[in-house]
Amino acid sequence: MGPGPSDVSARVLGAMARPTLGHLDPDFQRMMEEVKEGLKDLFQTKNRLTFPVSAPGSAGMETCFLNLVEEGDTVIVVRNGVFGDRMRENVVRAGGIAVLVDVEWGKAPDVAVIETVLNANPEAKIVAFVHAETSTGALADAAAICALAQKHNCLTIMDAVTSLGGVPVLIDEWGVDAVYSGSQKCLSCTPGLSPVSLSEKALDKIKARKTPVRSWFLDLSLVMNYWNGEGGRSYHHTAPVNALYGLHESLVILFEEGLGSAIARHKHMHEALVAGLESMGLKFLVDKSCRLPQLNAVVVPEGVDEASVRAHLLKAHSLEIGAGLGPMAGNVWRIGLMGASARRENVELCITALADALN
Ligand code: PLP
Repeated sequence: MGPGPSDVSARVLGAMARPTLGHLDPDFQRMMEEVKEGLKDLFQTKNRLTFPVSAPGSAGMETCFLNLVEEGDTVIVVRNGVFGDRMRENVVRAGGIAVLVDVEWGKAPDVAVIETVLNANPEAKIVAFVHAETSTGALADAAAICALAQKHNCLTIMDAVTSLGGVPVLIDEWGVDAVYSGSQKCLSCTPGLSPVSLSEKALDKIKARKTPVRSWFLDLSLVMNYWNGEGGRSYHHTAPVNALYGLHESLVILFEEGLGSAIARHKHMHEALVAGLESMGLKFLVDKSCRLPQLNAVVVPEGVDEASVRAHLLKAHSLEIGAGLGPMAGNVWRIGLMGASARRENVELCITALADALN
């Protein structure tokens, strides 16, 4: 019950143990099409470029930034935690100029403040924000941020690593231009794949680039020939075949349950966790109005050594919960309720184990 990876089911692990096909084998290519269709349903998009990057969430992040940001482009980066800061770093490494909208950790971004920054930087081309900030457990109002970016003729890059599968992610309805996620959180697959999706507007910006993308591996104009190869796929890199079997199975499991039911389950398990922990006098960092169900930042009570509580949970109850990151280190625990981990037994175990550790 940490901040990811979440529990991986025996079905996903079993799928990954199947014999390794060639990455251009016709059966494997059929499965690739199913993975793409599943990801489109999950992102709720018709974007033709929707596929899993062969590397973890940070590579999906780099794919979006390196392809969309060109030398000298101004990018507004909303920073309310660790992953907003990683976005800033990506902009700078891609040769762009990052203009920060700093938000207090644990709070959701204020759209009016983003608008002030957009007014002051009319040359901005992109607005980048984290939908579900894993370092604090705050959810951003993606619909409002995207509407604002469109009003200012900016593209949007959204981090959905922790949000996808746990709260609604509506790429077409909101008009997100580039989104990346991870296999290891609410999809409950093994770590190491990063589903991404790009709009036609984003693809137009990439086509109009004056300089080549500063990465060969993540250059979408090359990767597309493998994942979207119209008139025949061609080799780009050797795809992680067995990892993709796992992602395929995790999508099958998710759609067997139904996306709406999975999102409702995350909410119900979160409510049960809140009820249990609040009855012990524990407090949550993030206000109810913007609190993520799948990532719960719980304030460490005064005088408690948070690391020894986590060590006790692991030793006595085989239960992992996460520590705080950056300025939150020592101040919060991060309890994940992601994918297959968001279940009643886990919530009960967590409440009992924390009560035991704190008494
Ligand atoms: N963005 C967010 C919000 C994350 O939570 C994470 C990982 O926890 C990442 C990006 C990076 O993903 P990965 O660790 O798979 O590279």
